[in-house]
Amino acid sequence: MSQSPTRADFDRYMVPNYAPQQAIPVRGEGSRLWDQEGREYIDFAGGIAVNSLGHCHPVLVEALTAQARKLWHLSNVYTNEPALALAKSLVERTFADKAYLCSSGGEANEAALKLARRWAHDNFSEHKHRIVSFAQSFHGRTFFTVSVGGQPKYSQGFGPVPGGIVHGEFNNLDSVRDLVNDDTCAVMVEPMQGEGGIVPASPEFLQGLRALCDAHDALLIFDEVQTGAGRTGTLYAYEQYGVTPDILTSAKSLGGGFPVGAMLTTDRVAPAMALGTHGSTYGGNALASAVALAAIEHIDTPEVLGGVTQRHARFREHLERINARHGVFREIRGMGLLIGAEMASEYEGRAKEILPLAIEEGVMALIAGPNVLRLAPSLVIPEADIDEGMARLERAVARLVAGQ
Ligand SMILES: *Cc1c(COP(=O)(O)O)cnc(C)c1O
Repeated sequence: MSQSPTRADFDRYMVPNYAPQQAIPVRGEGSRLWDQEGREYIDFAGGIAVNSLGHCHPVLVEALTAQARKLWHLSNVYTNEPALALAKSLVERTFADKAYLCSSGGEANEAALKLARRWAHDNFSEHKHRIVSFAQSFHGRTFFTVSVGGQPKYSQGFGPVPGGIVHGEFNNLDSVRDLVNDDTCAVMVEPMQGEGGIVPASPEFLQGLRALCDAHDALLIFDEVQTGAGRTGTLYAYEQYGVTPDILTSAKSLGGGFPVGAMLTTDRVAPAMALGTHGSTYGGNALASAVALAAIEHIDTPEVLGGVTQRHARFREHLERINARHGVFREIRGMGLLIGAEMASEYEGRAKEILPLAIEEGVMALIAGPNVLRLAPSLVIPEADIDEGMARLERAVARLVAGQ
C-alpha cells in the first residue's frame, strides 16, 4: 500500500511559491474539515473566499456528479448546455448582456483588460490604451494582471511590465482626476479591496469613478472576483453601491470550489471581443458551468443573501467581544462574509502569527496583507459553527497576546 502524502512532500515535490500550514485536511463537510490525523477544524477561510456553500454541499455534489455522468468537456469548437445556461443565468441576474466564461479570476481580468484595450482601439484610436487602477489593488497573477494590480512586489523581477498603466490611491477621487483622460480606456477597481486589506470603497469614490469614465469615454471595470457571487450580501457588490460597471469579473465564490471564472459586459462593449480575438480551452467547460449554475441559483435567493447579512453581524459581535478582552484589533470592517480585523499598532504586521495558533486551536482563518486578519467563511455557515469557531479563534488570539 502506498503511504499517504506528507507535508514534507510539499517541500520535496512542489515549486516553492507557497508555504502552506502543516496540517493536511482530507475531508470536509459544511464548515468543518478533518485532517489526516482526524483532527477537526472549523473553516473561516473558505478556500480563500471560494467555498461559498461550504464543503461538499449536496446541491453542488449533485450538480457535479450528474454532469460528470453526462459530458465533461467539448472545447469552444462546440458549445454545451451548462455553459449556455450559466451565461443566461448570469446575464439575467445582473446588468450584463453578455458573458465570457473562463477558469479563474486572473483569466477573467485578463479578458476584461484585453477587451477594454480592444474596444478603445476599435472605436477610438490606439492612443486610447491607458489603464487606471489603484495602489494595493489585486487583480490576479498573470503578467497583465500583476502589472495592473497595485502591489509592486507581485510584478517585480519579471522584466519589463506592459506600458500604459497608472495607479491612483484607493478611495481618493482627487488622486485619480488627473490620471483619467481621453487616452484612458479603462479604470479597474475592486468595490472592496480584498488582498489589499478588506477595504470597502466609499460610495462617493465609485460614483466619482463612474462619472470620470463617462466624461472620458473610458470603461469602468469592477473586479468582483472576491466580492462577487453573494459574498457581500447581494449577488454582486455593485448593487449596494448603485454604480453599474461596463465590465464585471467574477470567480472564487462563483464555482463554490470548482475552478470557474466569468467576465460580464454589455452589448455596447462586447462586440470588440470579436470572433478570434480571445479564448481559453477550458472556458465554458461543462463540469465547471454546471457547478457554477447550481451555486449561483442556490446563492441568489433571499434566504441565502439575507443570511449573509445576519451572519456578518454575528461575526462582528464576536470580533468586537474578543477585541474588548484582548485589545488586538484597531478596526473591524468588511461587508457580508468578507471580514477584516486590522491589527492594533502594538501587533503591527503580526496578523500572520494568528494562523498557526488558530490551526492548533481548530479553526482556519486567513490574512489580507501583513496587518489584517481575514475571514471568508461559507455563506451558509451554521450559527453554532460561528460561535464555536470564534471561541477557538479567541483562544488563538489570547495565546498571541500571552506570547505563547
Ligand atoms: C483572487 C483574486 C483574483 C485572482 O483570481 P485567481 O482565481 O486566483 O486567478 C483577482 N482579483 C481579485 C479581487 C481577487 O481577490
